[in-house]
Amino acid sequence: MAKHEARKRFGQNFLHDLSVIDDIVRAIDLRHDDKVIEIGPGLAALTRPLSERLDHLNVIELDRDLAHRLRNSFSPKKLTITEADVLTVDFSDWGDDIRIVGNLPYNISSPLLFHLMSFAHLVRDQHFMLQREVVDRMVAKPGSSDYSRLSVMLQSRYRMVKLFDVSPEAFDPAPKVVSSIVRMRPLPEDRPQAKDTSLFEQLVAASFAQRRKMLRGSWAKWADSIPWEDVGIAPTARPGEVSVQQFIAVADALTERGITS
Ligand code: SAM
Repeated sequence: MAKHEARKRFGQNFLHDLSVIDDIVRAIDLRHDDKVIEIGPGLAALTRPLSERLDHLNVIELDRDLAHRLRNSFSPKKLTITEADVLTVDFSDWGDDIRIVGNLPYNISSPLLFHLMSFAHLVRDQHFMLQREVVDRMVAKPGSSDYSRLSVMLQSRYRMVKLFDVSPEAFDPAPKVVSSIVRMRPLPEDRPQAKDTSLFEQLVAASFAQRRKMLRGSWAKWADSIPWEDVGIAPTARPGEVSVQQFIAVADALTERGITS
């Protein structure tokens, strides 16, 4: 087959380091009958070893040339190809207990992580390769300079562990940044969650929009109704000091006072 020219606009950096590929597949720890969906199979660096270990694999690929190659290389009995933009895919079509994996296109990582959040109740786990900087933000705790809106929103829904880093040389073409593998497991149904999730999202977004600003300023429109002492937050605090549970407590306190999103 002719060589595929990597397309920058699709975030194409293809893995070629066999030991990295092996480490990723081992970290996912597959059973042959798992329901696995791979996002962005590309030239099948992960697809092939995944498919060898599974009865069946589902993949989502936007690039029609790559989807065409996959169709020529795999039997439809082994591989189902959804040729689509993953941001438009309804993951509920696969039912529940799904396992999602992928070396993701870095240019859409945040919108994709938020898109997947709406299907978290159907997911067993997610293993992703992302820019290290993004993974560091996903797992960051209060007090860290990486702690951000992404940290709070994802940690309110998933338990996440950064597994290992991958150097740029493992890819062709080599990206400019170091990558990391992250494991995400949705938290159970009885996790702490805000009664009004949209108010929670608004509070988190407003606070990190200007992360150096004091919360009494960023939350000016709610400030008079927040029981600052009860939730254990000083009005002069910055969002980087507030835990996920405290963001939830503020949202619930406002809900109790009749404030809606
Ligand atoms: N899995 C391959 C590997 O590890 O070598 C390729 C990874 S490459 C970083 C990202 C892949 O995602 C490419 O195959 C690209 O075409 C695909 N992709 C990019 N944007 C996409 C989108 N919106 N929906 C689905 N696939 C997309």
